[in-house]
Amino acid sequence: MICSAWGKYPKIDCRRLTFDRESKLEEIIHNEKELIPYGNGRSYGDSALSEVILCTRAHDCFLDFDESTGVLRVESGVLLSEIVEHFVPRGWFLRVTPGTKLISVGGAIAGDVHGKNHHIEGCFSECVQSFRLMLANGEVLTCTKEGTPELWRATCGGMGLTGVILDATISLKRIKSRNIQQSTIKTKNLEETFEAFERYGKSPYSVAWIDCLAKGDEIGRCLLMTGDFADDGELDYRLKPQKSIPFDFPSFALNNWSVKAFNWLYYNRVGERVSQQKVDIDSFFYPLDAIGEWNRIYGKGGFTQYQFILPKESSYKGLREILSLIAESGKGSFLAVLKLYGEANDNWLSFPMRGYSLALDFKIEKGLFELLERLDAIVAEYGGRIYLSKDARVSKELFECGYPQIETFREFRREHAMDRKFNSLQSRRVEI
Ligand SMILES: Cc1cc2nc3c(=O)[nH]c(=O)nc-3n(C[C@H](O)[C@H](O)[C@H](O)COP(=O)(O)OP(=O)(O)OC[C@H]3O[C@@H](n4cnc5c(N)ncnc54)[C@H](O)[C@@H]3O)c2cc1C
Repeated sequence: MICSAWGKYPKIDCRRLTFDRESKLEEIIHNEKELIPYGNGRSYGDSALSEVILCTRAHDCFLDFDESTGVLRVESGVLLSEIVEHFVPRGWFLRVTPGTKLISVGGAIAGDVHGKNHHIEGCFSECVQSFRLMLANGEVLTCTKEGTPELWRATCGGMGLTGVILDATISLKRIKSRNIQQSTIKTKNLEETFEAFERYGKSPYSVAWIDCLAKGDEIGRCLLMTGDFADDGELDYRLKPQKSIPFDFPSFALNNWSVKAFNWLYYNRVGERVSQQKVDIDSFFYPLDAIGEWNRIYGKGGFTQYQFILPKESSYKGLREILSLIAESGKGSFLAVLKLYGEANDNWLSFPMRGYSLALDFKIEKGLFELLERLDAIVAEYGGRIYLSKDARVSKELFECGYPQIETFREFRREHAMDRKFNSLQSRRVEI
């Protein structure tokens, strides 16, 4: 069957395998020449794609919960949305959550995902106490940061290339409300945007939407949203039904003009320089989840998300150059998310580092990859890196210069015969 991840690019003819018990999984790993685990397909590119994919989504049981500490053990196919749905009413929330709750716990560990609070809480692996992993030889190991340090560093952020995560023990955080006290700060240009990030740096959550088509004096103008959980005791929470996009949009629907119009309206919907709102968990953390299959607006050819991070010292200069190039190219993105990150952890392929990251969605069309290669060159020049969870096209050379621990990772995979069993289109492309 034809398979793709969230960006619908690339597509591959693949066999989907499932397992009902660990002995069956061991048999699959033994018999198949090569495979890659597949969670909920919310990575954008080709990290979860190969000719054989191993689907973990059916493994969705909650195994144990300690109400006094918030420590939860779940199977790896459990979605973050299922955790949110069951635990918010009991006064618990995820310590780290990305901008969609529709990802599996296995995918969250394999991508070492991060949220709007990286500067405070770090990556998802920071809230993981342990996980069980089936290796290339069928052996199952319980991994912890202290007990199995190398396997931990290779697997958290390792994009499924070390084995299959079976279950995980994670810690949740206490909350007193399903609501967030949000501040929205409107800035006029990149300089003000950076100042605002610094000024609100102590806020537990922060994220900015950038108008990526703004030019000249307005380059880098944004709406910065910061916030923290309210204290009002309202914990009633139910998953809202999604409205879905019923068909793939025709490719002409998304163009420079529609993005420009959207950006203008979105930026100008806020009048004041600083305003306060009380919003719920879904509006604050997961606005994109309100619309099911929104990836269809990019048409049948799909789209790619370009997400890079630059070290803090070079972020301002690098971002200015990149935003100017994008505005000049006229290839706009509705979604252009800027985040400030805290210190990197020591996982070998984790994406975050101290600095600023920008994520942009681009429709796959003529001229796009040439533009992205020009952006790659700027990212490399300023010492940055590309996020593997979003990527579908980066070259081996650019990938390598962003991830200095890559040789250690490769060596570790070779040593444990992982490189002969777990591979994706992405791992083949960048040779990891
Ligand atoms: C709308 C949207 C917003 C997003 N926002 C963010 C964000 O703010 N921050 C962020 O960091 N990411 C973000 N992402 C990316 C997403 O969080 C990651 O790509 C995540 O890894 C997807 O999880 P998944 O369960 O869908 O995994 P998949 O997409 O199926 O797989 C992703 C990777 O995990 C591996 N994997 C999956 N399950 C297992 C397992 N059981 N054992 C071993 N390996 C496994 C796969 O092999 C693959 O390499 C966003 C994605 C979307 C669509």
